[in-house]
Amino acid sequence: MPVPLIKKKTPMSFLDAGERKTNFNEVALGYTKEEALREASRCLMCPNKPCVAGCPVGIEIPAFIKLITEERFEEAYEKIKEKNFLPAVCGRVCPQEKQCAAVCTMGIKNEPVAIGRLERFVADYAETLGADKKNSARAGSGRKVAIVGSGPAGLTAAGELAREGLAVSVFESSHEAGGVLIYGIPEFRLPKKVIKKEIAQLRDMGVEFNFGHVIGRTKTLKELFDAGFEAIFIGAGAGLPRFMEIPGEDLNGVYSANEFLTRINLMKAYRFPEYVTPMKNLKNVVVVGGGNVAMDSARCALRMGAEHVYCVYRRTRDEMPARAEEVEHAFEEGVDFRFLSNPDLVEADGKGFMKGVRCLRMELGEPDESGRRSPVPLEGQYDFIEADTLVVAIGVSANPLLLETSPGLKLNRRGYIEIKRGTFETSIKNIYAAGDIVSGAATVISAMGGGKRAAREIVKCLTEHNISDERK
Ligand code: FAD
Ligand code: SF4
Repeated sequence: MPVPLIKKKTPMSFLDAGERKTNFNEVALGYTKEEALREASRCLMCPNKPCVAGCPVGIEIPAFIKLITEERFEEAYEKIKEKNFLPAVCGRVCPQEKQCAAVCTMGIKNEPVAIGRLERFVADYAETLGADKKNSARAGSGRKVAIVGSGPAGLTAAGELAREGLAVSVFESSHEAGGVLIYGIPEFRLPKKVIKKEIAQLRDMGVEFNFGHVIGRTKTLKELFDAGFEAIFIGAGAGLPRFMEIPGEDLNGVYSANEFLTRINLMKAYRFPEYVTPMKNLKNVVVVGGGNVAMDSARCALRMGAEHVYCVYRRTRDEMPARAEEVEHAFEEGVDFRFLSNPDLVEADGKGFMKGVRCLRMELGEPDESGRRSPVPLEGQYDFIEADTLVVAIGVSANPLLLETSPGLKLNRRGYIEIKRGTFETSIKNIYAAGDIVSGAATVISAMGGGKRAAREIVKCLTEHNISDERK
């Protein structure tokens, strides 16, 4: 008898909203083995594999899901790792609803398969089996490659290159590896131990990490070549915060989301005084923006004890770029959304601090180049929000430090590194780049996809072999 089709995806357990907003514990609890088996059984194993084409690193999704249905979890893990060095990270933060799950055949008439939740299950379960300790690096060729930046782009390039036997050294300006994964995305969405475990595997493969190295300042790209590196991969991200450039933005109480999140996540202000970075007492907080960064800032503010957190966004909920699940969670936790609204003035209290934000009401006009309907101001119509803190989460740009000290490195008109289509090589021979420093702010998996393809080109250029077909 045919097995009946399960139309809805298997629910995952989450911490209760009332409880979770008082702490930084992980909100999404992951599937149990039984839940994973049930969800895996929903996959139709489509021969044309649309989900694989929807994944920027090309994970063989039906193949790993089939291995789950057969309870061959270690092999499922190996299958994912052929293409993805950070499965426990991606299973937690990838916007699957816009990628693999968006094109899942099940999603045409029913709910798509919960691919990300299954990926996370496999990665977490593999740890319990000890399967995450294995690595399969080729014998070393002795040829040296430098990686600038240890975000998802740099880590993926490092893993691909080490696996192919190249000697890889990562140069990272911060004191910890992980880029946005470690300083931006909060513990309650992505526990730091998950990233550290995946980075430890790269170390086991021979990748060397050098911290406190600001390339462009402590060493130039030329000095890296002089030190014997034959190729350089730049994955320096886009970490320069943008501001709204409105009056009062220089007042005390106004933060860029980068600073706000770095203080809380990387410097662990939420564990003050055990960690020495303090955070001011938050009462009424306004966060501006509608992306993941804004959701993380708003939800961190709640957990840091704020009484009221507003999220001001100039479009509506439908146009928000944040992951759907994070928006849902922010609502559940009590973030007060003010849609069709845009700050145009931060009001001062006369003592150098802010006392509130004036917001101009908006309406939606014609679609812009992003395809979303653009916000149009309703002249003269204002709201005032009393607040002691404003967190600006409206986007980032490329940090100019490395770019300005690297003569010959061509930038595009948006100020990001220009690469040759298909090869990821920059205007300087043997220097490659990918991730946010090329695309502008994007996603973890797109940065990883770029890092992987650039690494493939470096391998082709420095060694006699191509990365084997099954790993491409
Ligand atoms: P980064 O992660 O920015 O890493 C760059 C690294 O390079 C950093 O460690 C930096 O210190 C280092 N560096 C910079 N300059 C130098 C230099 N001169 N020398 C040496 N090192 C240098 N994406 C998702 O898919 N899902 C999410 O849920 C999600 N949430 C996000 C939440 C926040 C708060 C933020 C900020 C971003 C989020 N993103 C999310 C986007 C995603 O994290 C980025 O697109 C991704 O991290 C880009 O990877 P990257 O490797 O290009 O750069
Ligand atoms: Fe399974 Fe969906 Fe991929 Fe088809 S498209 S193989 S149903 S995950």
